[in-house]
Amino acid sequence: SEEKSLNFIEEIVENDLNSGKYETLVTRFPPEPNGYLHIGHAKAICLNFGLTQKYGGYTNLRFDDTNPVTEKTEYVNSQQEDIRWLGFNWKNELYASDYFDELYSFAVKLIEKGLAYVDESSAEEIAALKGTPTEPGQDSPYRNRSVEENLELFTKMKNGAFADGAYILRAKIDMASTNMLMRDPIIYRIKHAEHHRTGNKWCIYPMYDFAHGQSDSIENITHSICTLEYVSHRELYDWFIEKLEIFPSKQYEFARLNLTSTVMSKRKLLQLVNENLVSGWDDPRMPTISGLRRRGFTPKSVREFCERIGIAKRENLIELSLLEFCIREDLNKTANRVMAVLDPIKLIITNYEKGTENLIGENNPEAEDGGGTRVIPFSKELWIEREDFMEVPAKKWFRLAPGAMVRLKFAYIVKCEDFVKDENGNVTEIHCTYIPESKSGNDTSGINVKGTIHWVSAQHAKTAEIRLYDRLFTSETPDAEEGDFKDYLNPQSLTVLPNAYIEPALADADLESRYQFIRKGYYCLDRDSTADKLVFNRTVTLKDTFKK
Ligand code: ATP
Ligand code: MG
Ligand code: MG
Repeated sequence: SEEKSLNFIEEIVENDLNSGKYETLVTRFPPEPNGYLHIGHAKAICLNFGLTQKYGGYTNLRFDDTNPVTEKTEYVNSQQEDIRWLGFNWKNELYASDYFDELYSFAVKLIEKGLAYVDESSAEEIAALKGTPTEPGQDSPYRNRSVEENLELFTKMKNGAFADGAYILRAKIDMASTNMLMRDPIIYRIKHAEHHRTGNKWCIYPMYDFAHGQSDSIENITHSICTLEYVSHRELYDWFIEKLEIFPSKQYEFARLNLTSTVMSKRKLLQLVNENLVSGWDDPRMPTISGLRRRGFTPKSVREFCERIGIAKRENLIELSLLEFCIREDLNKTANRVMAVLDPIKLIITNYEKGTENLIGENNPEAEDGGGTRVIPFSKELWIEREDFMEVPAKKWFRLAPGAMVRLKFAYIVKCEDFVKDENGNVTEIHCTYIPESKSGNDTSGINVKGTIHWVSAQHAKTAEIRLYDRLFTSETPDAEEGDFKDYLNPQSLTVLPNAYIEPALADADLESRYQFIRKGYYCLDRDSTADKLVFNRTVTLKDTFKK
């Protein structure tokens, strides 16, 4: 592999290891189990796990499950499956909720140090005293409660004496700070809600800022990597660690992945699922890891994409076509070439009387091991693509037309002698003759034709449903448009071809198989397939059809 320069996080890690600041690198991937993981998470996964693969140490999987209302075990399981599928293994499976006791005692410690207080102001009153970025805030009337009173109230909060929102616990920092997050942030709130792991044990839950850094610290995370929205949280992250005198994890921020024609927040993806605008979290049009998997992406192609986009300190927007490029490049080397006719029309070879002939097809000329060959049955009646015939040929048309010759891939040259139309004027049959001396690999006919088309033998073909996918949104930046992002859904994002014909060899396809349908793109079997009906997804077209 080519030499690559270090990204800025790798530079920090190398410096910290070389200087002896840390002996062992420890990172974590901290998803909130409130949805399925998406391609943006893949970037964070590749970064965190990639660092410890490269520099040693280990990476934890920590579910950031401090918000009882949105979190579910279904999401925990899918997130684990997706990380494994990407090819990564975590050292410890951990849950922020496992630290609820410890976090609670951290809060008590802050109260005892005079660094936290219970506030009973309403949300409006708190907002009114918060100030603005240019004006300092003002102290809450409850800011100077005694330690004893704070401890008593906080214990009552924990014991369920109060309703949701009646009291909160705040850190006592600085109401005049230029960083709004340092103006006595809320660290615990009352929420009488069942948690997916702790059940009804707790009715107070820590806020993100009070849970995340302390969880990092409990796990001795050396480099806590997050996205740029958290830059302003870093001061608070450091403040809690300093005041609690615990392991000094450090937070570093990188630019999140933004992709054209895509929304990525779990909240928005959940809307698409709940409103049945897609078939589920793993709909092949979704930017989720499970959607990409079902679409036919390989783990390698997703890792390659994450490698190519790199790690930056500034926000940017990546073209969806780069992701498609990565899967195309991978499949070009690995996918067997097969024949499938998506929009079929019958071709009859009037002078072919040999019954069934078994032809030999090359599986993949690009494969490193040569790819091998397979048997393809050929017979008198074939299916070809409707678009490969023109009744009145255009200029430079090298495919079938009355009187024209074309090569059938892996087989013979045929000449169109005649065609049949139905009462509506649609062509229903094409009649050809074949040149017996023109067999592929053994052509002594001396005839040169410019066009080669694919086909399947009608008698041997299997039927299949083919699903073609396009971008899910018509806008390049659906998040930035006026109004609702769902107004920019692409009504043509899914096209179903119910009646395609495929080579019989494809009956053996499994969910891991990847194919190039010759001239048509890369395809994989969908899990909706049954014994009677195979369903294939188009992963990506052969060429970049991205319109600018
Ligand atoms: P979302 O709402 O889109 O799921 P999130 O940050 O709330 O984003 P988390 O489950 O908290 O989702 O994210 C887990 C980790 O993945 C975090 O460290 C976060 O920074 C990272 N992450 C999330 N979205 C992206 C993205 N688009 N690009 C890179 N990293 C991301
Ligand atoms: Mg988050
Ligand atoms: Mg979130």
